Amino acid sequence: MVSKKATTKNIIILGAGFGGLNVAQVLQKNLSQAALAESHKIILIDKSPYHVYTANLYETATAYAKKITPDCQRILKESVAIPITELIDNKKVTFINAEVLSINPEKREIELKTHRQKTDKLLNYEVLILALGAATNYFNIPDLKENSLPLKTIEDALKINCGLNQHFLYNYKKTPPPKVAITIMGGGATGVETAAEMRGFLNHLAKKYHYPKEKIKIKLIEAGQTLAGLGEKGTEIIKKRFKKLAIDIHLNSPIQEVTKNSITIESNHQKKVLPSNFAIWTGGVMVSPLVQRVFGTEKTRGAIEINEHLQSIKYPEIFAIGDNAYFTDPKDITKRLPLLAQIAFRQGRFLGKNILNYLNKKPLKNYHPASPIYLLPIGGRFAIMKIGNHLFKGRLLWYLRRLIDLRYSLLILPFFKALRKWLFSHKIFLKND
Ligand SMILES: Cc1cc2nc3c(=O)[nH]c(=O)nc-3n(C[C@H](O)[C@H](O)[C@H](O)COP(=O)(O)OP(=O)(O)OC[C@H]3O[C@@H](n4cnc5c(N)ncnc54)[C@H](O)[C@@H]3O)c2cc1C
Repeated sequence: MVSKKATTKNIIILGAGFGGLNVAQVLQKNLSQAALAESHKIILIDKSPYHVYTANLYETATAYAKKITPDCQRILKESVAIPITELIDNKKVTFINAEVLSINPEKREIELKTHRQKTDKLLNYEVLILALGAATNYFNIPDLKENSLPLKTIEDALKINCGLNQHFLYNYKKTPPPKVAITIMGGGATGVETAAEMRGFLNHLAKKYHYPKEKIKIKLIEAGQTLAGLGEKGTEIIKKRFKKLAIDIHLNSPIQEVTKNSITIESNHQKKVLPSNFAIWTGGVMVSPLVQRVFGTEKTRGAIEINEHLQSIKYPEIFAIGDNAYFTDPKDITKRLPLLAQIAFRQGRFLGKNILNYLNKKPLKNYHPASPIYLLPIGGRFAIMKIGNHLFKGRLLWYLRRLIDLRYSLLILPFFKALRKWLFSHKIFLKND
């Protein structure tokens, strides 16, 4: 690593997800050109050693493998996770694999818990970028956390995959084999794509364990009236598709309680108890608890309020992107921009350049969000897409989604590495379809 003088100023990026990684990549390219490399040091911090492509976590959770061995788990992990050190120029960016415990914006200081040293460490910053993402939100539903698996991290996806394998391994020798009810709670995009892909996975598991298919049920439960934010028309398309895949949908059914073997919902003002042996929670996320604690307000639902330059209104040396940033939707200023990877990585790339303006004391540019595209795979090689108010569906869209995955790979990796990585994941994911 290039040695730096004691007076070096730290540009600290918290989080190496969609937002943070892209800030680091743009900064590492441009800092030396801006003649700031000698006086500034870029530090990227993440508690995970991996950058995770969350958009395909549902695939990892439901990817079929003949044997669940440590090697197979590694392969599944590599389908969506890339070591952060492979994505940055280690001579230009220092990566610290550590959890951020606290931020003191008055002292311009952060506190870390490093895994290796097992000691806490304090770091000062000249500029701080908040990109710590979101965490699973259980909305205080009784016993939900204890009796379900979330789908937010790579570890969650592997737990679901292995857990389902183990469930069948444990039950297949029983005579008669017991009924298996798998419930996905939360009908947002993640819940819908997970439920849809689950059918192909369970068909493979049934074959592997000689389990009667008719004994395996899949349910999707949603508190609201529609699915995946696709409105009534989109929900109708999903309903038809799920009928084909034999997945039951319960709409307008807020969850009241979850036990090991049942889920209580409220439907038509009545409590209904549904059997459930394996429950997955995809019902919501909240802003990183650390960001909420230090910067959150009621108005911003825990996120940090920023201006049009993605800069904190209260602390000009702090910037925020992705799930941490409270940026209102220009089309409806009462709403916040949706929490999406496509927004986080674009903000990250934009901010990488704006930080250089900040350091050079040049005027900062305004961030203009592009309209997001919603492209949702719904089992097999089939997808649904929403652009503005228009809905499209079909097989071609499933391929388009794969191309979008490739495009992101090409953005963060060199050409051949990106292509290899994409083909590797594609091969694993295709096994279910
Ligand atoms: C299952 C799933 C599927 C999704 N599918 C899509 C999709 O198809 N399309 C889409 O556009 N969006 C999708 N999203 C949303 C998308 O993942 C997020 O909006 C996006 O990741 C936000 O980017 P970010 O940089 O703000 O945070 P993240 O990408 O979540 O990155 C945050 C990083 O901070 C790290 N971190 C958190 N806390 C700490 C701490 N205290 N100390 C150190 N490190 C910490 C985390 O390890 C993580 O690497 C999906 C999300 C999930 C969970």
